[in-house]
Amino acid sequence: MKNQILVTGGTGYIGSHTVVELQQAGFDVVIVDNLCNSKAEVVDNIEKITGIRPQFECFDLTERQAVRDFFGKYKQIKAIIHFAALKAVGESVSKPLEYYRNNLTALMNILEAMRDFGVPNIVFSSSCTVYGQPEHLPVTESTPRLPAESPYGNTKAISEDIIRDFCKATQGVSAIALRYFNPIGAHPSALIGEAPVGVPNNLVPYITQTAAGIRQQLSVFGNDYNTPDGTPIRDYINVVDLSKAHVVAINRLLNGSNKANYEYFNIGTGRGLSVMELVNAFIKSTGVDLNYKIVGRRAGDIEKIWADTSLANNELGWKAEKNIEETLLSAWNWEKNVRGIK
Ligand code: NAD
Ligand code: UDP
Repeated sequence: MKNQILVTGGTGYIGSHTVVELQQAGFDVVIVDNLCNSKAEVVDNIEKITGIRPQFECFDLTERQAVRDFFGKYKQIKAIIHFAALKAVGESVSKPLEYYRNNLTALMNILEAMRDFGVPNIVFSSSCTVYGQPEHLPVTESTPRLPAESPYGNTKAISEDIIRDFCKATQGVSAIALRYFNPIGAHPSALIGEAPVGVPNNLVPYITQTAAGIRQQLSVFGNDYNTPDGTPIRDYINVVDLSKAHVVAINRLLNGSNKANYEYFNIGTGRGLSVMELVNAFIKSTGVDLNYKIVGRRAGDIEKIWADTSLANNELGWKAEKNIEETLLSAWNWEKNVRGIK
């Protein structure tokens, strides 16, 4: 019988790609999502890619009883991948209580259900935001976490701590937190991808929407940073590569090869790219010209960060494989598909 995995937030951007990879690796997937930032059609598109329809339950994970009812019904779940969260950094500054309530209450309900219904394993979506602007680059897992810049970032740091303490106190549960760097791109089928609501905050969706003519111009936020070309540096990780890291983490938990009952890993490429390097790679890989303009810095942006991925490479046996050109081309193909551009 196939091992059954619960994917919360499974109709979202990273969740949907991970469902595909899990199914292709032979897992039976149940999605829970309340569709606050995704659409039910994603389930159809996952089925188009894999030929297997994941089970889908639509409810809000902050509702404690609904979570308990769910685990009472699905008794075979062997592990959880917990993606469901609100993730807009700027919005979290103006709506801190909504962010703390959604992200922390959902996590607490899930951990409580793991304890009470005997689900032994969880993989958690954390973020490189927990490092703030590190003093030394690249960041390793032993780089100290810094106070969060936003309520969103703080929910990630607090969630890691809650999971760590829960694992310490609870016999038989194990967790892996994956600290994602900047996920970008889409599935090569162009059937699933990132679908931001309204004006995108993130660089790559803004680029693809500008290229598609939805936005007039990309604003490049600052070229006076202490970097070779003056624009900020990030570690952009292909979403399919990132999704595969989750399959590896799940296998590690299921076969008990984890070295501690709470572990955390950086998931990036190990390579930093500046905004202008990324813009130029987009133009080169797609052949589409991009209207952009250098403007002032965006408040709260850090200057540079990229991952040391040695621990994930050596311990998980996972490595990012896709290059930036094919990743940006996949993002563009997805945008074209969404907009009906030939
Ligand atoms: P997303 O918004 O596309 O997906 C999250 C999904 O969770 C959405 O489908 C949303 O409807 C669902 N959801 C939110 N609150 C819920 C609730 N209370 N009950 C049920 N469903 C709920 O986001 P994503 O980019 O796929 O991110 C997935 C995870 O990875 C999040 O935890 C996010 O914080 C984390 N992360 C994302 C990035 C990034 O740049 N995308 C970087 C680091 C970490
Ligand atoms: N960025 C930009 N223009 C945009 C969106 C983002 O110049 O319209 C820059 C931003 O200043 C940052 C980088 O792109 O240096 C990545 O930003 P994103 O919001 O995608 O990720 P994060 O800030 O979370 O690393």
